[in-house]
Amino acid sequence: MYQAIINPVIDYNAAAWQPWLSKSNIDKIDTIKRTAARKITGLYVSTPSEALFLEAGIHPTITTGQRHAITSMEKTIRLQADNPKFQIANKDTKQRTKKRQGWRNMAKKMLNEIVNKNTPRIKWKHNQIPPWQQTKKKISVNSQTINPVKPDDSIVEKRMKATETINASQSLYGYNIFTDGSAEAGTNNGGAAAIITVGNPNNPNIIDTIKRPTGTVCTSFHSECVAMEIGLQWLLDQNPQNSPTIFTDSKSLTEAMGKDQREQKDPSLIKLWQIIDQLPVDVKVQWIPAHCDVKGNEAVDKAAKEATKMDQNNAPLNFNAVKRLIQREIQPPPIAHPRLKKTYTRRVPHPDELHMTAKDRHIIRALRTGHFKGLKAYQNRLNPDQDPQCEDCQSSVQDSTHIWECEAHTNRRRAMLDDPYPNPSILAEDPKRAIPYLRAVYPNWFA
Ligand SMILES: [Zn+2]
Repeated sequence: MYQAIINPVIDYNAAAWQPWLSKSNIDKIDTIKRTAARKITGLYVSTPSEALFLEAGIHPTITTGQRHAITSMEKTIRLQADNPKFQIANKDTKQRTKKRQGWRNMAKKMLNEIVNKNTPRIKWKHNQIPPWQQTKKKISVNSQTINPVKPDDSIVEKRMKATETINASQSLYGYNIFTDGSAEAGTNNGGAAAIITVGNPNNPNIIDTIKRPTGTVCTSFHSECVAMEIGLQWLLDQNPQNSPTIFTDSKSLTEAMGKDQREQKDPSLIKLWQIIDQLPVDVKVQWIPAHCDVKGNEAVDKAAKEATKMDQNNAPLNFNAVKRLIQREIQPPPIAHPRLKKTYTRRVPHPDELHMTAKDRHIIRALRTGHFKGLKAYQNRLNPDQDPQCEDCQSSVQDSTHIWECEAHTNRRRAMLDDPYPNPSILAEDPKRAIPYLRAVYPNWFA
């Protein structure tokens, strides 16, 4: 509900106004976000807002404002130079006020810290096919092998299905091209390659290999698009007489290319159609499974990996890759609250929490925030007549830290958690292990 209805309102055109907000107005928006976060998590009103945002997976306005502004700047610099928005974003005006700077200056400065401003960007391309125009059907795309590959197929089965499909869909008189995209760790130093073969593609006679770097940051989808692009561009340069077949192991690419030309919005894809439109022959694109010892696919996989090592300085960056980098780099301010800092040592929720009962999840969450009804210290907060003292050891206030230090249960912790005094971060790091201990020592919480 929050993500679908409230957040879009808060973030509507955020780049334009969020950077201008005063601290008190940012606080007002964060108050709305906190209310939503409490509804999502079921945590209490007193929960510190840092913990509340972490538990709900909501970012404070200071962070979303920066992300929006920088992403918007990244969008704008990709417009053509004669676009008025491009001109406004790049205009240098004197600031009337020193104190608050508009999105232009802030975003430009922060963006330059994330991505070198001299690195070229892929300009926006608009799909210029009017909806009434019939698409020139010049391409047939197949996202599956003749006998569909199943997830649990062995390498031998996959290779059999791939070989059979390649035999049936190869171009007998034209070129057979294998394309592949690659990226280090999926996001850094991308590379793309196409290898051009003649003869039976199952035993290919490679006549050309083309490699191209796809950017210091990239997405695997973009690399796959560039691989297809260099294969198509090679064809266009040859002015072929016979229809070629292009083999790729990227399902997302074949699925995107299988859609109507008029639906294409991604500039990397639109570029493919522009080349296809100029080709004198029809094109067949066939998906084949990866990593099953198909010679052409193995060769292009190797070439794409080599392409990642090429000089990336002039490789234009894809928008989605930069957007993802902005999200990664622009993070909420570090946790200031000392106890929370010790607890939230990793991103929450831990995957193990997703399988817990609602009650177990709530206890884990609430204990992390330090504001949990079961704790004597919390009961004392609500009602000063309540004794905050731990009943088990009678020597300390029972707060969220004490449950990991209470002397009455040292042996139990040693036995169950291998550690008599574990760090409270166990609630974030290993909640599945914390639950049995809590259940054994504080059974009434779970009643
Ligand atoms: Zn105690």
